[in-house]
Amino acid sequence: MKDIAEHDLQHNIPLARRASPDQRTVVRVGSHDIGDGGLTIIGGPCTVESLEQTIDIGEHVKASGARILRGGAFKPLTFPYRSAKTFELREEGVAILAEASRRVGLPVVSELTDIRFVALFAEKIDMIQIGSRNMQNFPLLEAVAGTGKPVLLKRHFGCSLRDWLGAAEYLLYHGNPHVVLCERGVAAPHTHQPTSRFIVDLQVVPAVHEVTHLPIIVDPSHATFRRGYVAPIARAAVACGADGVMMDVHPVPEEAAVDPLQALDYDAFGALSSQLQKIWSVLHP
Ligand code: PEP
Ligand code: MN
Repeated sequence: MKDIAEHDLQHNIPLARRASPDQRTVVRVGSHDIGDGGLTIIGGPCTVESLEQTIDIGEHVKASGARILRGGAFKPLTFPYRSAKTFELREEGVAILAEASRRVGLPVVSELTDIRFVALFAEKIDMIQIGSRNMQNFPLLEAVAGTGKPVLLKRHFGCSLRDWLGAAEYLLYHGNPHVVLCERGVAAPHTHQPTSRFIVDLQVVPAVHEVTHLPIIVDPSHATFRRGYVAPIARAAVACGADGVMMDVHPVPEEAAVDPLQALDYDAFGALSSQLQKIWSVLHP
């Protein structure tokens, strides 16, 4: 069973482990349920750029079948430099997301990077994302668990399934059962190349369903970092049983403030969403 031993199931992840074959957690975000047997499509900008644009993106992804709007306000960027072209709106971005959510009628998921903003996110954001880089930031996990908000727990690109479920166990142990896992690619000796920034561990999808009752979604945008690879990996993720997928969407992808190489435009997102729904219906007739 991948890297999880019987001892782990009994002693390290007693809350996250699947105790019976039909045990599953359904996580409610706004009025949408993740993991209830339906497909959850999430779309939105890598980072929030303006209220008008966030509403426009939200309306388009909603019309294409997305049930949750994503958007970054606090970005874990690799380098410290920000500019007029590459930026994060921080508190202003959180306020924009909350307003766009209200105007569009979709709940929002956004990444929290800093324990100082836990209360702000708890007040304004429907689902709190723990990004890859913070997966094992245990004080942050404990603080987020305390909000009782749904959590999207991304897998660190260097971590095993065992490590990842250990992080999920922290959330459960600290009293928050509303946890969704998100696979976003892992690093290997031959990654960080133009054709494979990370490798999407699709095998982890059935492994997650085998080991834990928590739902799992896949983020092909941050895993592949290449627009042309997003749709094939999203289709594969749904085909191998993911409960949902999350994609970066931007009206003019090349001009996105963060991650311009990977966002889909509205037409590409719409076409992909309808393919994903068809793949889903083949699996769940
Ligand atoms: C994101 O979803 O915007 C993001 C930065 O993701 P990750 O933590 O997977 O890099
Ligand atoms: Mn991004």
